[in-house]
Amino acid sequence: MRVAFFSTKSYDRTFFERANRLFGHDLYFIESRLTEQTAGLAKGCPAVCAFVNDELNAAVLDKLAENEVRLIAMRSAGFNNVDLEAAADLGLTVVRVPAYSPHSVAEHTVGLILALNRKLHRAYSRVREGNFSLDGLLGFELNGRTVGIVGTGKIGTIVGKILQGFGCIIIAYDPYPSDEARMLGFEYVPLDELLARSDIITLHAPLNRETYHMIDARAVERMKPHAMLINTSRGGLVDTRVVIDALKEGRIGSLGLDVYEEESDLFFQDLSGQAIQDDVFARLLTLPNVIITGHQAFFTHEALQNIARTTLANISKFERGETSGNEVRAVTAGVRV
Ligand code: NAD
Repeated sequence: MRVAFFSTKSYDRTFFERANRLFGHDLYFIESRLTEQTAGLAKGCPAVCAFVNDELNAAVLDKLAENEVRLIAMRSAGFNNVDLEAAADLGLTVVRVPAYSPHSVAEHTVGLILALNRKLHRAYSRVREGNFSLDGLLGFELNGRTVGIVGTGKIGTIVGKILQGFGCIIIAYDPYPSDEARMLGFEYVPLDELLARSDIITLHAPLNRETYHMIDARAVERMKPHAMLINTSRGGLVDTRVVIDALKEGRIGSLGLDVYEEESDLFFQDLSGQAIQDDVFARLLTLPNVIITGHQAFFTHEALQNIARTTLANISKFERGETSGNEVRAVTAGVRV
């Protein structure tokens, strides 16, 4: 099947071309992001493969359907950028890669926690400049600390398991508690209690209307003073402006982000020669107790290999008129943003 790949980077091409030796699809790589303006490039391709910052709103889906696209194959786990109701109305099938490597994201999450706590980002620059002063680099032991995990799905559960190895006490909030998490000894508590008790809060819930800005002014007020907040899920979970104020006032101790609510104009591009136009993001960059990575938590060899294989298998199954089990529909998504 001919597949139009939007937002293609060199690594996508490498991994998809290699995996495609087993599938034999006709891959058409496009560097542009999928938007209303670029949707026409998919003409002649019954399948479109899109990523996290591609736009798949009703207008874009309408254009794709007009061009006889029948399948949207997300090469991501999240699908909050797809208007699933519009897709259903247009008869478009949407598939995704539900679990390409939760370990990749979980390990990056723990990396952010360790780096922020022991100020590795600051230490790295200092030592390279011959500054061996320890002032401002004081951390705390993770052993015995309480970590609040919001969303105990695949990634959140692995984060909890890893942190138990550090001696952390794991408390969790999830409207659908899991037996596995309970067996591991996670203590489920209401969200307000999690916010009040946690030294470190890490977000692993999907983005939808219920979770949008779940970390807002009210939530920040409930947080333990100087708590660490980590978000490797989706930027929209956090009200960035509120969190910046809390960081300035010292109410939040530190912030680790791999995702940002307005990331689509920034991430996955080299903007090092330009002035950052997003003033909220630019403000975050000035704070010493903030580490931001550009949506790279998934970015491992294992994950890229799994993403390519599962995406191409999803496409093959669709072509044969079979279901893969990786279809997403409006009803699975619950509510939309
Ligand atoms: P998952 O579906 O296995 O787990 C999500 C969990 O969140 C589920 O247990 C669900 O019950 C829970 N949940 C739903 N609504 C909630 C709410 N209101 N409050 C608390 N919990 C809620 O998903 P996963 O594979 O663990 O992925 C988690 C998120 O990580 C995804 O939604 C995706 O957006 C993000 N992600 C990020 C990257 C990255 O590179 N940064 C990569 C993959 C996934």
